[in-house]
Amino acid sequence: MRREIVAGNWKMNMDLAQTESLIDELIRTLPETKAEVMIAPTFTSLYRAFQLLRTHKIEVVAQNMHFEESGAYTGEISAGMLKSIGVNTVILGHSERRAYFGETDEILAKKVNTALEQEMEIIFCFGEELEDRKSGNHFKVVASQLKNALFHLPADQWKNIILAYEPVWAIGTGETASPEQAQEMHEFIRKTIAEVYNDDLAQGVSILYGGSVKPNNAAEIFSKPDVDGGLIGGASLKAADFGAIASAF
Ligand code: 13P
Repeated sequence: MRREIVAGNWKMNMDLAQTESLIDELIRTLPETKAEVMIAPTFTSLYRAFQLLRTHKIEVVAQNMHFEESGAYTGEISAGMLKSIGVNTVILGHSERRAYFGETDEILAKKVNTALEQEMEIIFCFGEELEDRKSGNHFKVVASQLKNALFHLPADQWKNIILAYEPVWAIGTGETASPEQAQEMHEFIRKTIAEVYNDDLAQGVSILYGGSVKPNNAAEIFSKPDVDGGLIGGASLKAADFGAIASAF
């Protein structure tokens, strides 16, 4: 049985007061779901979020971290700092980090190594751009993102990896990959992992889909056999929408 996960990536939204109020609403209203539920508030709200959810089943995760442990890296946050406030899971490789902050596969491989050395769990994001899909290169691009950042890992490290396939053309655009497109890519990802490692490992990895998941399309996307949940942007900022998506399982 693979883990089923619905994670909210709040991106650069929600100040401290807004974080407190959204968490309060989530605690009061989150419906029953068999999925694990996670939220990723921004750094300034992370510790407060952790405090508020300490005894609740919603897990608090970080949106990013640096690969160095400490030192002269102005403005950065280390894995050790996250762990010191109780955060044990980090999103790495989000397309916005890649596009706006120059995060290359090489940098991401270093971040992955550091997070795993620190015994953190990773939600690793990747996905093709619109031009890649239009030119039919989407499978090749995804395979290369996985290879460059993850395929150096020994098999036993994969227990701490959650994958999130997020086609860039579907993020924040309202244009979702069809459930069939998501399934097709997730199946390809699993096949690619099986070829490098083995089928057992590939079948055990949770693969989330991200990109304009909303209450009205979540159930159909999550019903696909290789889709194990979602990484939710915009719709995670409203408790009712996020709850509806989480309960789509
Ligand atoms: P949207 O759900 O807003 O399209 O964002 C998806 C995403 O980037 C989650 O990480």
